[in-house]
Amino acid sequence: MRCGTPEGANRGACAFALSSVESEGYTRARDARREVARRIEDRMRTDLSQKLFEHAKSRIPGGVNSPVRAFRAVGGDPRFIARASGSRLVDVDGNEYIDLLGSWGPMIVGHAHPAVVSAIADAARRGTSYGAPSPGEVRLADVVVERMPWVERVRMVSSGTEACMSALRLARAATGRSLILKFEGCYHGHSDGLLVKAGSGATTLGVPDSPGVTPAQAAETLTALYNDLGSVRALLDAHRGQVAAIIVEPVAGNMGLIPPAAGFLRGLRELADAAGSLLIFDEVITGFRVSAGGAQALYGVRPDLTTMGKILGGGLPVGAYGGRADLMERVSPAGPVYQAGTLSGNPLAMAAGLATLTLLAEPGVYELLEARGARLASGLAEAASAAGVEVTVNRVGSLMTVFFQPGPVTDYASALRSDTQGFGVFFRTMLEGGVYLPPSQFEAAMVSTALTEADVDRVVEIARSAFDAVRASR
Ligand SMILES: *Cc1c(COP(=O)(O)O)cnc(C)c1O
Repeated sequence: MRCGTPEGANRGACAFALSSVESEGYTRARDARREVARRIEDRMRTDLSQKLFEHAKSRIPGGVNSPVRAFRAVGGDPRFIARASGSRLVDVDGNEYIDLLGSWGPMIVGHAHPAVVSAIADAARRGTSYGAPSPGEVRLADVVVERMPWVERVRMVSSGTEACMSALRLARAATGRSLILKFEGCYHGHSDGLLVKAGSGATTLGVPDSPGVTPAQAAETLTALYNDLGSVRALLDAHRGQVAAIIVEPVAGNMGLIPPAAGFLRGLRELADAAGSLLIFDEVITGFRVSAGGAQALYGVRPDLTTMGKILGGGLPVGAYGGRADLMERVSPAGPVYQAGTLSGNPLAMAAGLATLTLLAEPGVYELLEARGARLASGLAEAASAAGVEVTVNRVGSLMTVFFQPGPVTDYASALRSDTQGFGVFFRTMLEGGVYLPPSQFEAAMVSTALTEADVDRVVEIARSAFDAVRASR
């Protein structure tokens, strides 16, 4: 008796399941469940989204331009968004949602912030791309170098994928070594060598995670366990003198939110130094979010190279990689390591990034994000417990995941023990109630500065019904 209907199936089945649970004799929170059932019966009209999705599927693979948008992990059909402002998204059918997705990270000051919009409009009036250097690139580089403690030089690219791919090329060039060590459950974009799942154990070589990635590419990626320094040491010992770099999300955000255990990042620094490998922090999510200087400032651990993206582009396509000057000076044309881009340092993207980072420099911003994040996390934990649903809420500042399991969730294997069916019911009920969460158990919700206390309290109220729906669906 699951509300977890496959994509496109009749969602009316969900209301039926809820009422039959009541007749099975559950009395606890019955009123709340009725309210949930009523909400699902009065569900939002989504005709226009559905029509667009049907048509999109005949033109775009799976109807979307990035896979998780299709809601396959949670059931139901995606909503096509018509516009967004502040903390709200509005879909093409006119339904409004409190946004906790934040476009997967960039929208930390909320949507269509007037300062960001006018910076983009001003830039657009001066032309959209020159293929020659422009002042915004230097200004944004200044801000990055000022805020990120261990970034001395930075190169702009157009996505986080490109940033990570380029940082690895540089690390291999600088060390003359081939292997890369990454962590199970960490995502660094979709370049071939990084699309590698863990093998059966920490000491096995990587196996391709996708058709099209060759065994040779996968074999150059070693996979260790997050928060487990022993697994890193074992791989470095087994491949002595061959590992160019350890790449890690200093706060993991792509297996659900998992903070680094005490001493984990410092331990990686020591292991990398002992092995002669470089340490790369992938701060595509954490950069400018968990603190003004990202995770490297928050935890006080020095990476050799840092990759960035998301917030840095303020909602336009941007990535960047940077770090030690002696390493970055090897990048073309200063040095021999080739890397280029037609739209790298695009003036609109630089303007949006600068405007966003300027807003983030206002006093109290990170305190506000922390306070909103804490209020949301404790509200959700309390609502789950009141509904009798066991969850583990992991949070770092404005990033969080509600794992549907008792926890603790400290790595990929423990994240996978979550009840993804339960999460699916939760997600769909929240969506119908007007809250847009990341459509997967294994992603992090993102709080923006536009999210008010009243928004948070409303999310928690809707979550009460959603947790009741989860309870009723079991
Ligand atoms: C999103 C993400 C990337 C990839 O960035 P894109 O801009 O989507 O290519 C890389 N690393 C991390 C940690 C990310 O969250």
